[in-house]
Amino acid sequence: MADEVRKLVIIGSGPSGYTAAVYAARANLSPLVYAGYQYGGQLMLTTDVENYPGFEHGIMGPDLMGNMRAQAQRFGAELRDTEVTEVDFSRRPFKITAGKEITYAEAVIVSTGASALWLDVPGEETYRGFGVSSCATCDGAFFRNRKIVVVGGGDVALEEANFLTRFASDLTIIHRRDTLRGSKAMQDRAFANKKISFMWDTVVEEVLGEKNANGIAKTTGLRVKNVKTGEEQVVPTDALFVAIGHKPNTEIFAGKLPLDERGYAVAVDPEGTASAIEGVFVAGDVRDYRYRQAITAAGEGCKAAMDAERWLEEHGVEVDLEGEVYAGMQVEPGAPAYETPHLPGVPVHARSGS
Ligand SMILES: Cc1cc2nc3c(=O)[nH]c(=O)nc-3n(C[C@H](O)[C@H](O)[C@H](O)COP(=O)(O)OP(=O)(O)OC[C@H]3O[C@@H](n4cnc5c(N)ncnc54)[C@H](O)[C@@H]3O)c2cc1C
Repeated sequence: MADEVRKLVIIGSGPSGYTAAVYAARANLSPLVYAGYQYGGQLMLTTDVENYPGFEHGIMGPDLMGNMRAQAQRFGAELRDTEVTEVDFSRRPFKITAGKEITYAEAVIVSTGASALWLDVPGEETYRGFGVSSCATCDGAFFRNRKIVVVGGGDVALEEANFLTRFASDLTIIHRRDTLRGSKAMQDRAFANKKISFMWDTVVEEVLGEKNANGIAKTTGLRVKNVKTGEEQVVPTDALFVAIGHKPNTEIFAGKLPLDERGYAVAVDPEGTASAIEGVFVAGDVRDYRYRQAITAAGEGCKAAMDAERWLEEHGVEVDLEGEVYAGMQVEPGAPAYETPHLPGVPVHARSGS
């Protein structure tokens, strides 16, 4: 059977991937979305989302993602809940491998997001969304006049801690060393903030919590240990914000797509979504380590679909016809390639089906 060639493949199913799918499907690009095994992205890990516009009383993260998924399907996006395992962006159509399945695409949107790093201690997963979070902007407002703990010692932890003192009655930064890694300016701000205190040389061993009569869980404290003395104690808290970093989901793109020194995908146009590889677009947390919000990721997914549509049009791919114009098209291994800029050192092969 001939391999399938699609006009557009979207890799990832968070707010950026699903939004790109809605826009691309409505533009008759018949997008194929590789949603991954954990479809829906990071918001599947949380409870209330109160800052996504359009939901006056907030919405549960999984419900929001379920709505986005249904909306993309309604307009004809095809979703496959499998993980892309390999890509070949060195020639067009681009080759996308998902296990044993190979798909070719004229254009690709990479929206594989990022993963927050967690402490990986007992209780953390149980109380995630019930006091345990990795996003101060998202969840800080739930803890007005409550005790908050932030774990971490870098700039992000200090910035989140300073931000969270708008809500916290008092805030403790727990750090496993006796000095912070953050910049001097951020340290000065944190030391000057009267609501912030520090627990040095300390690690969290367990997140403690309880369920109320209605079965609703909440975080009540942390069991911590001093790494120098070995002394253990329980620190009462209503919230734990883990701020030890994020990891972009870009392993499969190493050497295939320009990544920065932290592994984030790079767009050549800072206001758009085009990567240095013509026809490959990057959107959402996979390239954005600054804002990291559902709405900004969705906005980038919209931009990426519009950028891809325009790019396909400019490159002679029919974008205004309904149906599978390109699906099922035969790939001829010997056919001449059309030239694209390539990554230094990545060989150019001949492959073309258009
Ligand atoms: C606990 C928590 C609470 C949050 N709360 C809020 C909030 O209240 N408000 C807010 O605005 N933001 C919130 N955020 C941040 C928000 O979730 C992210 O900014 C947003 O989800 C980023 O969207 P994205 O589409 O870029 O990527 P993601 O949501 O990270 O989705 C990426 C998707 O790509 C898939 N994927 C990865 N690799 C592959 C592959 N190889 N093949 C196929 N698929 C792949 C993943 O499985 C995932 O489904 C929260 C985040 C967390 C962790």
